[in-house]
Amino acid sequence: MSTNRFETRLGLSGRRPVKSHGYVNPKLVRGSTVLYPNCADRREIGKRRLEQAEIYGLYGTETHFALESMIAEIEGGTHCQIVSSGLAAITVPLLAYLKAGDRILVPDSVYGPTRRFCDATLSKFGVTTTYYDPMIVERDLRAMLTAEAKVVFVESPGSHTFEVQDVPMICRVTHDFGGKVFMDNTWGIRNFMPFSHGVDVSIQALTKYIGGHSDIILGAITVASEEDWSWLRAGALDLGQYASPDDCWLALRGARTLNVRLDAQEANALRIAEWMSTRPEVQKVLHPALPSCVGHEFWKRDFSGSCGLFGVVFQPDFDYQAVVAMVDSLQLFGIGASWGGYESLALPTSFTITRSRNTGEFGGEMLRLQIGLEHVEDLIDDLVAGLAVLRSQQRTHVASAPCFADEMLDLYGNEPKI
Ligand SMILES: *Cc1c(COP(=O)(O)O)cnc(C)c1O
Repeated sequence: MSTNRFETRLGLSGRRPVKSHGYVNPKLVRGSTVLYPNCADRREIGKRRLEQAEIYGLYGTETHFALESMIAEIEGGTHCQIVSSGLAAITVPLLAYLKAGDRILVPDSVYGPTRRFCDATLSKFGVTTTYYDPMIVERDLRAMLTAEAKVVFVESPGSHTFEVQDVPMICRVTHDFGGKVFMDNTWGIRNFMPFSHGVDVSIQALTKYIGGHSDIILGAITVASEEDWSWLRAGALDLGQYASPDDCWLALRGARTLNVRLDAQEANALRIAEWMSTRPEVQKVLHPALPSCVGHEFWKRDFSGSCGLFGVVFQPDFDYQAVVAMVDSLQLFGIGASWGGYESLALPTSFTITRSRNTGEFGGEMLRLQIGLEHVEDLIDDLVAGLAVLRSQQRTHVASAPCFADEMLDLYGNEPKI
């Protein structure tokens, strides 16, 4: 890695040297067949599948390789594999690494579709999943790490509930047992350096802040050792993973401005989180940079910043329907999945939380906010009006009907049992 600072590297990565003749940006290359001058050359280059070599479209084009270099740079790793979605960036390394008889430890606060993949798909291949408390301490983790536990998955902070995990401890203990740590580092982009804390495989949904404009679905898997790269690359190719070069090109374009967008969204979100924590309707703000968030001390120790995504727990006087009425009334916050775009979003989250252990009781209805690049005072004005709607709906003791986020439905659209 160069000695340039982060902002400078974002501008240089995946490009030609600054003063070479040609366009500023890497080319958008679409292609399947690559032609060779003769059969011998074709055989030779076919041996270079672990490198950024243009062999066949599936193995990547110049556009893919530029983005892979960029993400490896941002994550602080050595090799990156671009895949079709953030979810594929979770499922591909798990399928590539685990085998029948193995066990994976997964935090109870994990992203819903990761849980579904473990329960519905990994189980079919004879891999068992054990859920653990995201705030697990060393002694309990050691007790869970039996010989067949090959991977400990971490996601810090947790989806919707934002518990920040003690990732360095989890890595140290897992490595003592010969296991590997896979991390969903989507929230920690730029602000958590996975490999310097001991993580083996880092996962990014590029759909979020790298894309940054709510217009692509893309994922990246990054590693920092040749050994990890060889099984990962082989597994990704075996599984036929590919991403559109057009989407990769958009991700590269998004990544150039990652730093300024993230700075602005981080500042807006912190301001709103602090303001929210002074509101009487709010019981607790789940923002890793605030002391009210579980694991805040690990955030302070391990992260260099935060981002625009956080949660709010309301006072018990407000039921689910009241939160829905509030969200429906907001003018500047869209209602929809995903985050990391330039525009703000709000989502009631209570019914998206599934837990296997007793770790999901927050004592009130919950809301997740993704803060965009709008003027922060406009967003606060909108929330002030929304909170007035919330108050007007004060609990009436009528049981509210659960409503599940799409991501929690099973493949046939059935709601989970609660
Ligand atoms: C959105 C998200 C993903 C999945 O990304 P997609 O590109 O939508 O598949 C994975 N992990 C986390 C934490 C996410 O928020």
